[in-house]
Amino acid sequence: MRVFVPQKHGLHSPKFEYSNSKLRKYRESPERIDKIVKRLSLNHRFMISEIEGKESLSKNGVHFDKMIEIFEKIKVNDYLIPDTFNIKRLEREPNECDAKLGMYLFDTATPFGPNTADVLRNSFMTVKEAVKYIKKTRENVYVALRPPGHHAGYDFFGGYCYINNAAIAAVRLKKAGKVAILDIDYHHGNGTQDIFYYSDVLYVSLHADPATEFPSYWGYADESGEGEGYGYNLNIPLPKGTRKQEYLMALRNALEIISNYSPAFLILSLGLDIYKDDPLGTFEIDRDGLNEIGMLINVLGVPTLILQEGGYALDEIGENAEAFIEPFS
Ligand SMILES: [Zn+2]
Repeated sequence: MRVFVPQKHGLHSPKFEYSNSKLRKYRESPERIDKIVKRLSLNHRFMISEIEGKESLSKNGVHFDKMIEIFEKIKVNDYLIPDTFNIKRLEREPNECDAKLGMYLFDTATPFGPNTADVLRNSFMTVKEAVKYIKKTRENVYVALRPPGHHAGYDFFGGYCYINNAAIAAVRLKKAGKVAILDIDYHHGNGTQDIFYYSDVLYVSLHADPATEFPSYWGYADESGEGEGYGYNLNIPLPKGTRKQEYLMALRNALEIISNYSPAFLILSLGLDIYKDDPLGTFEIDRDGLNEIGMLINVLGVPTLILQEGGYALDEIGENAEAFIEPFS
């Protein structure tokens, strides 16, 4: 199975994030992907391709131009965490870089640094290569990339995410057939939901109940899509501490809906933060459970583009990724 990795991801490496009223060590670190790649490179089933190239973000085809223009043009010497947020969505553009970012940012966990834009350009290129590959071969492919993407919406970013990798892939794959997105990250993919809320790209998400978990304001069961998108957005919030058996039951329901939709391609937002010892999660899913989840999804028999989202249990992330992905290889 082919694995694509953006070569430059390590150049985006904020030191801190501000969360739960404290300045903390940044969790979404380069080590996450380095450990996954190291582990997969020991397994002959996986063929790893590092992608060096970059593509201008203006061609992303998903996000609001002005937000992307700020990412492309901003020049900073260090990681910025804005402290003022444009909650009324006013269009006035201030001069200060942190205030420019605050126009579209929704949290304090997503600092923007000197190399962030370059890393995003490299990510974008990597996603495009993976799309090209799956279109041509109809074989499953895994993209081990960071920063993750599923919290980045049409005109907002946050939750460690800047551009939405799943959406960037979906708009391109859509030209070759129907696309469904399954998001199994511990957190709701509010960005992906936002981008496709009015369109018939099916988005199905299993995640921790937003009443008690990030991203708090999105991800409830009654968010079903609108207009042409009505009925194509399915949220399955699960209580804190959900065990494997209950999780698998919910997953089977989700897979039945995806199967009835008959997609030509499946995009899978893979969050390994559903793992039992993840510092950001509470679900009771062990490594065998991750393997079982992978097997069940693979039974759909739909060519699947797997994109790495969350997952912060650094000591186990390599083995966990391998256990999950192996059924697809
Ligand atoms: Zn997550």
